[in-house]
Amino acid sequence: PSVIEVNDFSFAYGEKQALFNIDMSMNEKEVTAFIGPSGCGKSTLLRCLNRMNDLVPIAKITSGNIEIGGVDINHQDVDVIELRKRVGMVFQKSNPFPKSIYENIAYGLRIQGINKRSRLDEVVERCLRGAALWSEVKDRLNDSALGMSGGQQQRLCIARALAVEPDILLMDEPCSALDPIATAKVEELISELKEQYTIVIVTHNMQQATRVSDKTAFFYLGKLIEYDMTEKIFMNP
Ligand code: ADP
Ligand code: ADP
Repeated sequence: PSVIEVNDFSFAYGEKQALFNIDMSMNEKEVTAFIGPSGCGKSTLLRCLNRMNDLVPIAKITSGNIEIGGVDINHQDVDVIELRKRVGMVFQKSNPFPKSIYENIAYGLRIQGINKRSRLDEVVERCLRGAALWSEVKDRLNDSALGMSGGQQQRLCIARALAVEPDILLMDEPCSALDPIATAKVEELISELKEQYTIVIVTHNMQQATRVSDKTAFFYLGKLIEYDMTEKIFMNP
């Protein structure tokens, strides 16, 4: 079933129109890749999906809406904090907190008032397993996260996003700061996470889109100019 519906959605930063009349429908257990040249609006749409663009004062919706689970996410009754728990975000250059590997995951839970050690241990393990990191770090959970490799840090940030049990994961160029081996691991992880989450990934790498995504959305100058099954889009005519 459809999880995210983008309906005739247009969006501007002040006078600058960044997105024009976008229509999309993203399903459960589906990876959608956003591709297109720099400045075409990929990150803007991604950030609209969890209302991160609320932080930009001049930003405004100029037509349409976005529905998640049938609810207009910009409706006044929507609790943005709850929305952002449901719609997790992983950034291009993930920055673990300068704390232990354990604390990077436990921290968000403590903020929610979950302090029981056994419960935290359980979630930390589940998330690290979910991010395919457990076997690499289980013996050094108290070490600083900043001592991990770039690829491990990126997977730690994915683990951190999983802690609040989102339904949707948004990834903004999650591999662009990684070497090929770390990239392959994150791509493999995305393929596994797809069984449980609806995933949207912004990438400038078309090969990556073909490897990880079910559907590809190709943006150009703020317009969605192609949107179809990835295998169809990249099929040679
Ligand atoms: P992409 O992710 O495809 O590179 P963006 O979504 O970042 O593209 O940008 C789309 C357009 O919106 C660009 O013209 C960009 O300059 C503009 N833009 C993005 N963020 C802002 C902002 N905070 N303020 C003003 N304009 C912005
Ligand atoms: P509590 O008394 O709250 O049940 P503990 O006294 O058992 O907690 O542990 C104190 C704190 O140590 C925990 O709240 C948690 O922040 C941290 N902690 C728990 N497990 C680990 C771990 N494996 N590695 C690092 N820190 C941990």
